[in-house]
Order: sequence, then structure tokens, then C-alpha cells
Amino acid sequence: MAGNFEIGGQVLRPGEGRLVELPVVSLYTNTPVSLPVRVLHGREPGPTLFVSAALHGDEIIGVEIIRRLLLQRGLRQLRGTLLAVPVVNTLAFLHQSRYLPDRRDLNRSFPGSDKGSLAARLAKLFLREIVGRSQYGVDLHTGAIHRPNLPHIRGDLANPQTLRLAQAFGAPLLLNSTPRSGTLREYTTEHGIPVLLYEAGEALRFDEMAIRTGVRGLLNVMSALDMLPAARAATRLPEPVIARSSSWVRAAASGVLRVQVALGEQVRKGEVLGVIGDPFGGPETPVLASAHGVVVGSTALPLVYEGDALFHVARFDAPETAAGVARNIVAARRALKRARRSQPRVV
Ligand SMILES: [Zn+2]
Repeated sequence: MAGNFEIGGQVLRPGEGRLVELPVVSLYTNTPVSLPVRVLHGREPGPTLFVSAALHGDEIIGVEIIRRLLLQRGLRQLRGTLLAVPVVNTLAFLHQSRYLPDRRDLNRSFPGSDKGSLAARLAKLFLREIVGRSQYGVDLHTGAIHRPNLPHIRGDLANPQTLRLAQAFGAPLLLNSTPRSGTLREYTTEHGIPVLLYEAGEALRFDEMAIRTGVRGLLNVMSALDMLPAARAATRLPEPVIARSSSWVRAAASGVLRVQVALGEQVRKGEVLGVIGDPFGGPETPVLASAHGVVVGSTALPLVYEGDALFHVARFDAPETAAGVARNIVAARRALKRARRSQPRVV
């Protein structure tokens, strides 16, 4: 039998679940704003895992992933404790914005401080109350507005525990990347806390494949941590493929872009990814791949300025590795089709 779990001044007994509201700040109207956490505390002992979304307030795919996760009946068999935080950045979420009302980026404000800006205070609160109680975490993100991402996991894959969980998640691609300064991932990497970052889809839009890959990935991670019984083998994706680096291809000219590659497509160095023209039918500028790899991010807005980031390419030394990603995506799309045929409309 597990012991009691304490958070926000509340005590949960083994087998209890509760919505705990951690006070953040008040609106101008004096209405209090909180950081709501759904706490599920299993009967049996096990690790504590946090699952968070909307650190960037407009990245709403993760909110839906956590909503569907919380509806899973299998959670009744939970071992350990799940801290589900579907909306970390409540104020930014209310404004459908990436940023807080003080125009700061919460995910550049870690580790934060109790006496700093609103963003710094929220970062500190999240670290103290959520990350500080967890042994593992999964943070859900999307690309920016008009910039969809292929579903993939980013993490410090040099940490064997992070690598194990990243492989268990079952996304089509794993990207080993160095975290930027001030991010949650920089903090957790420095402190050796295995945290996965799931990137999928774009801001303010839903994408069913990104959502389902995310829900399945969280269940797979919880199984790998022995928090849930092992997932059914039939629902697993093929072995994920690891990319060691990535780079953005930028526009060499301003104009109107015609994209010629899809997310997940394998590209070779020098290949044409798109063509930039002008509204008068003048000369065109091709956009060329700077390395062999797979397109993991792409602009969906055809209007571009010189210097704009257009295509995010995960690099692979060997073309056959990149082909593995394409196979995984085909498998994920097939699984999505099967799921759509076999499942009721209300999920
Ligand atoms: Zn984000």
C-alpha cells in the first residue's frame, strides 16, 4: 500500500484522486487565477510522473491529449502518482497566446523566482509544486502558429533513463537536442530529472494523429515506468528512429512560397523543398535542403520574408535511417485510420 501524498496543503490517501488548485495571481477584477492539477494517487506505491501542457498558452494539442488520458479506464490500476496539468500557463491560455500578459515566455523563465516577474513566479511555483514532487515528466508542446511539427520527442538522450522513456513513447522520431536557456528542459537536464518533450502539430489547431500519438505515448511511458500494466502489443508503433541534430532552412528571398515536401518526408542535400516566387510571375528562388534528413517542421503560411525559417530538417548521416521515419509515419497513419473505423465518435 502506498503512503499519503501531499500537495498544495492537501493530503490524498492511497487510491484517491482530486483536483488541486494552486493559487497563482489575481486578475484585475480580483478574480483568483490558479494552476489546476488533477492528482491521481494510486493504491500501490510507484513513481510520481507529471504530465504538463500549455506552458505556451496557444499550444492546445497537449490540453486535449491530457483530457483524453484522464478518461482512460486503465488509470484505475495506477501505481504511484500522476500529476496531470493540462493548462500550466492559465493566463496565456485565456488570451490564446504563447506569452503571458507581461509578454514574457514562461518557457524561457525557468528556474524563476518568488520575487521576479509574473512569468518567473509561475515558473518557480511549477518547479516547486509539480516538478519538485516528480521523478519523471512529459511536457507537451506544438509548433508555433502556421508552423506544424511532425510528432516527435525531444530530450537529453544521453541520459539512459530519458532515452528508455523516449523509445517507449513510440513517436515516429526522437530528436536529441540541447535545451535552450531558461527552458523547463534545461532545468530538468541539469538536475538529472528524465523529462520528455513531445512536439506535435501547430498552435491553436488540433491534429488527430498528433493527439492520438500523444495519448498512446503517455500510456506507453506509464507502462514502461510500471505505473500501468503493459500496453497491448498490437497498438505499438515500430522502433523509433533517433536524429542527433537538426537545422532550419531559411528563405533566401521574400515572396510567395510553394511548398513541395510534406512533414515526415525524407529529403537529400540539395533537394528542392519549395519555390519562392512573386505575385507578378517574376524570377523564382528555389529553397534547397542543406543536409540529408527528414522534414520535422514546416511553414504552412505561403507568405515569407527573406530570412524566415521555412523547413526544420532532422539530420541523418545514413539515408536508410531516414527511411525508417517514413515507415513509422505510414504505420502511424494506418493506425489512425484503423482507430477511426473501430472507435465510437465520442472519445
Ligand atoms: Zn511550446
